[in-house]
Amino acid sequence: MSTDPKKELDFDPAEARLDEYAGDVMMKKSRFLGFPINQKSQLVGFYKWLYGSGFNLSMINNAGDPFNHGDEILNTLDFEREVIEYFAPLYGFDPGDTWGIVTFSGTDGNNHGIYFGANYLKKKTQKNPILYVSEEAHYSSKRLADLQNLELRIIPADVKGCMITEEFEKALVPDKPALMVYAMGTTFKGGIDDQAALNAILAKHPEISVYRHLDAALFGGYIPFTEYRDIINRKIQPFDSIAISGHKFFGMDEPAGMFITSMDVKQNQNPYEISYLNASMPMINCSRSALSPLKFWWIINHTTKEEFSAQAEGMLKRARWLKDQFDKIGWPAWLAPMSNTVYFKRPPEEIAANFHLSPDFDERRGGALSHIVVMQHVSEEKLGKFLDVLKTIRK
Ligand SMILES: *Cc1c(COP(=O)(O)O)cnc(C)c1O
Repeated sequence: MSTDPKKELDFDPAEARLDEYAGDVMMKKSRFLGFPINQKSQLVGFYKWLYGSGFNLSMINNAGDPFNHGDEILNTLDFEREVIEYFAPLYGFDPGDTWGIVTFSGTDGNNHGIYFGANYLKKKTQKNPILYVSEEAHYSSKRLADLQNLELRIIPADVKGCMITEEFEKALVPDKPALMVYAMGTTFKGGIDDQAALNAILAKHPEISVYRHLDAALFGGYIPFTEYRDIINRKIQPFDSIAISGHKFFGMDEPAGMFITSMDVKQNQNPYEISYLNASMPMINCSRSALSPLKFWWIINHTTKEEFSAQAEGMLKRARWLKDQFDKIGWPAWLAPMSNTVYFKRPPEEIAANFHLSPDFDERRGGALSHIVVMQHVSEEKLGKFLDVLKTIRK
C-alpha cells in the first residue's frame, strides 16, 4: 500500500496549478493583438512525432558548426543546415556561399551580425568600426554595441520610423569602417530603412569599408513571400548578414531565429579550432538548442511556399483593412508600406490593457500611441471586436 498521500489521491498540486494557468492563457491569447507573435501553432504534428518516437527522452545538443562538423550523432546539425539552406536563397545567398545557424532569438541573430561584422571590418582594416543604427531600430542593437564595446552612432529617424539619410551623412566618420545595422521593420511603426539612399551616401566614400547587417526579425519572415521580396535580396541591395526570428512569422512556440551570412564573412572571423568538438567554432555560443532546428525543419517541411505566401499576403491585406476601418471611424492611424503593423492614437488604458497593446509616444504623431501587429491569428473577426469597443468611446 502506498503511503504517499499524493499518490493515493492521484492529485498533483503542481499539475493543478499549471492547468489553471494554462486555462487562463488560452482564454487571453485570443485577445493578443499587440505583439508580433504568431499564435497559430504550426507544431501539433511535431509533438505527436516527438513523443511517439521517444526522441523526447534524449538530451541532444548542437554544440558545433552545422556547415562543418564531424560524424557525432547526438545533435541535429544536419537538419539545422537544411533549414539555413532552405531560407538563404530567399535572401539572395547563393548555395555554396552560405553560412548560418539557427539562433536563440532575434537578438542572438543581431549579436552574431554585429560580432561578425566588427571582426570582419577589423580584419580588413585593422581599425575598430563605428556602428550606425537608427533611434527607432530595435533596442537590441544598441545594447549589443554596448556589450561588444563598439562606438555607437544613433541616427535620428523620421516620423515614419526610418533613418534620416541627411542625418546619417552628417554623422558618418570618414576614417573609420562603418558597421551598418539596417532596420527592416522597426518595432513600433514598421519603418524600413531606405537601403538604396543610405548606400548612396556610403558610395560617395569609397575609402570607408562597410559591413551591412539587416535586422529583419519580423519583416524578414514574411517579405520574401510577397511582391516586396526584392528589398531583402542581397543581389538587389547588397548586405552581408541578416537576422530573422523563428517565433514571429514562422510560428515556432519558443524564442528562436536564424543568422545567415556569406562564406566570405565566415572565413574572415577568428574561429577557434576545438579539437574535442571536431569543429571550428565561429559562433558565439557553445551549446545550442537541437530541438529548435528540428521544429523549424518540421515547419518548412509541412508548409509550402504558396502557403507562406498566402499567410503573408493575408496579414498585409488585413493590416490595410484595419487601417481603412480606423479611417472610417476617424481614429488617427498609420500604416507604413510593406508593413503588417498598424499604429494609432492610444485608446484609454482599460481598452489598451484588455487587448495587450503596448505603448509608445511620438509628439509628431500627436503623443501616446499603440500598435496592432497583424499576425496570422489576428483575424478580421478579432479586429472587429476591438473596433467595436473603440466605436463605443468615439466622440
Ligand atoms: C522582435 C525583434 C527583435 C528582437 O528579437 P527577439 O527574438 O525578441 O530577441 C529585434 N529586432 C526586430 C526588428 C524585432 O522585430
